Amino acid sequence: MMKMKRIVVLGAGESGAGAAVLAKVKGFDVFVSDMSAIKETYKQQLESYGIAWEEGHHTESLILNADEVVKSPGIPNDAPIIKKLREKQIPVISEIELAGRYTQAKMICITGSNGKTTTTSLIYHIFKLAGFNVGLAGNIGRSLAFQVATENYDYYVIELSSFQLDNMYDFRANIAVLLNITPDHLDRYDYDMQKYVDAKFRILQNQTDDDAFVFWNDDPIIRRELGKYGIHGKLYPFSELKKAGMAAYAENGTIYFAEPYAFNMEQEALALTGKHNLYNSMAAGISASISGIKNEVIREALATFKGVEHRLEKVCRVRGVEFINDSKATNVNSCWYALQSMKTKTVLILGGKDKGNDYDEIAPLVKEKCVGLVYMGLHNEKLHSYFDGFGLPVADVQSMKDAVNAAFSMAKPGQTVLLSPCCASFDLFKSYEDRGEQFKACVREL
Ligand code: ADP
Repeated sequence: MMKMKRIVVLGAGESGAGAAVLAKVKGFDVFVSDMSAIKETYKQQLESYGIAWEEGHHTESLILNADEVVKSPGIPNDAPIIKKLREKQIPVISEIELAGRYTQAKMICITGSNGKTTTTSLIYHIFKLAGFNVGLAGNIGRSLAFQVATENYDYYVIELSSFQLDNMYDFRANIAVLLNITPDHLDRYDYDMQKYVDAKFRILQNQTDDDAFVFWNDDPIIRRELGKYGIHGKLYPFSELKKAGMAAYAENGTIYFAEPYAFNMEQEALALTGKHNLYNSMAAGISASISGIKNEVIREALATFKGVEHRLEKVCRVRGVEFINDSKATNVNSCWYALQSMKTKTVLILGGKDKGNDYDEIAPLVKEKCVGLVYMGLHNEKLHSYFDGFGLPVADVQSMKDAVNAAFSMAKPGQTVLLSPCCASFDLFKSYEDRGEQFKACVREL
């Protein structure tokens, strides 16, 4: 009898646990190893499929005998165990790569530095409204691998981070959406922007003439890089301004979709506000149109989408002050879009774990729109030295309760308090979700 091929999965979060289930269902000898503690729900999932696992350490003898390894996106490429695997020339792939081997479904894949979750959810919303048999995967909900193992969808709408793309080789996106590229996660790319850019463009590898590439034409990096890659998919660029060849653009408050099917809609009718969401809506509308969804359905879906939690989420109004939770703004560029969409004077709460931020990008908007700044983090020195000179009232806090109280005391009725931190949350919070939840809870206690 032939020896069963061994697949080792490193990391047992949603992605790793899902990959393990798929590998098991497909008949592999599967082992899961996680350096940290595995969540109870995932332990149960592994147990119920009879999958062996370990936590708190990596036992090399059980890992370096793998035929192939599935690495969770959270594990950096320079982790010691990954280096050892590379030395032994054991292939390391991502969960999405594994899942792609076992489904014939059409893949609509979304990447970019900002707007992935919003656009992915929006496309999924359109497909659902159109009555398609569609799954939602990537960073959202159940992993692609788990769904491929347990469901039978015709389409998947998938959010892809650069870390997922890093370990993808044969996977093919039928529709690839590239929203934008701005510096992010450079700590994982040797502080080399080009490496991060190349990772994003991996979304195009393996595309054929039958596939589609939807991208934001106003992005200088995307435009610069386009010529470098042998792109096979049909191009669907979109832009804020009317230009020849655009698949979608806006003019005088109307969005025009030109390719593949022409229709238009009032910008006012979009459910999501802000310029960034105009782009996200265009990308979603084009992708749906390419998939054959009728114009009326796309229009209705773009007008009825409820938005995603922690992304410019309106919390409530307290004594005339509007509170907005944009906790997911973990880099400077996303804060720029949040500030840009503010319609009133704003008190901005920012700070946290700085990923090498350059605040020049938001300085003009802070001067134009802000009436107060609340620095919330363990280390606020950089914020002090950059923004104190602007002459705005500032507060320095180390908890969400203090941040909300300080911001509320700076804001007048008719103004807005915006949590859009520019930073990761890990100094004071478990995650950006935890940060957003705490914000909402503190606001509701005012
Ligand atoms: P991602 O999944 O890529 O992190 P999200 O959809 O979760 O993106 O949005 C994160 C934040 O990025 C939002 O709060 C918003 O401020 C900003 N953002 C959303 N879409 C865009 C875009 N197209 N361009 C720039 N910033 C955006």
